[in-house]
Amino acid sequence: MPGRCPRLPMWNFSRNMPRELEEIRDGSGILIHMSEIAIVARPDDTSRSLKQQTELILKRNGFTVNETKPDYVLVIGGDGTFIYAVHKYIDQLSTARFFGIHTGTLGFYTDYRDVDYDEFLRTFLSGECTEFSYPILEGITEDSVYYGINEIRVENAARTQNMNVYINGRLFETYRGTGMCVSTQLGSTAYNRSLGGAVIEEGLPLIEMCEMAGIHHNRYRSLKAPFVMNDRNRIVFESESFAGALLGADSDVYPMESVHRLEIGISEEKKVRMLKGRTLSYFERLKSLF
Ligand code: NAP
Ligand code: MN
Repeated sequence: MPGRCPRLPMWNFSRNMPRELEEIRDGSGILIHMSEIAIVARPDDTSRSLKQQTELILKRNGFTVNETKPDYVLVIGGDGTFIYAVHKYIDQLSTARFFGIHTGTLGFYTDYRDVDYDEFLRTFLSGECTEFSYPILEGITEDSVYYGINEIRVENAARTQNMNVYINGRLFETYRGTGMCVSTQLGSTAYNRSLGGAVIEEGLPLIEMCEMAGIHHNRYRSLKAPFVMNDRNRIVFESESFAGALLGADSDVYPMESVHRLEIGISEEKKVRMLKGRTLSYFERLKSLF
């Protein structure tokens, strides 16, 4: 669902002022823009200093910093930083919009690199960007809900994990192995790809289920191949015991001692709202990955 980012009034600044000192004020000298922002940066020198600079410029353009309930979250870092930022504001996804710049190579969650910094900021300030929504996964256990921007997975490094896999309420297979990974389209280039899963092109409404070192013999039958499927499907992993297994949701892991059932599917309620100022080809992003 396209939308607009904040269109600011024309800049009105004295010719001798450096760009970063430009301010937008109404006739009586009062700052006009009311939006509240938060900046999430990776803890490295480049990202940190870009954060400082950005905060200064945005404040001078009338934005206020509100780390608790921002309208806009600017992300400076990598794909990992973007995912961290979405998790940080997971309870505010209906109002917060994310706009990212990658300090490094091109990312899947960001359209700008640090060399494009001026364009990144100008685009945000001028409102020349469009809003896109990206689906995220929810993982529901007996007592909690987890969210995955890249993926939700079950991983057992301690012992061989047995589980029944149901798709839309029907038994699909009985799996035995290290674990299972369910990935979003955006996450298909992350862990999923390391597991031999297919890369899914941007825009396709799909999710993917991938085995981690599945054991295949006559007693346990599982597909073995990565399964790219409709993103409306609901997958359930059920086991008498997930002892020793961890539930992974992007960067975070949780013990599964008391879990017997994990249901995974696209969240109806939560979506990530990202701002995009230019269209980058998915193939360019993909090429920069390897
Ligand atoms: P992290 O350092 O935040 O991320 C690990 C690496 O994965 C980083 O280089 C990151 O890129 C890259 N990455 C993240 N999302 C990506 C995506 N959608 N497409 C392509 N590359 C992506 O590590 P973390 O905090 O432990 O976990 C975050 C993610 O890392 C997980 O969601 C999982 O997908 C992935 N991971 C992969 C493996 C594996 O491949 N064996 C193992 C554990 C975790 P940037 O440098 O741009 O941040
Ligand atoms: Mn990267």
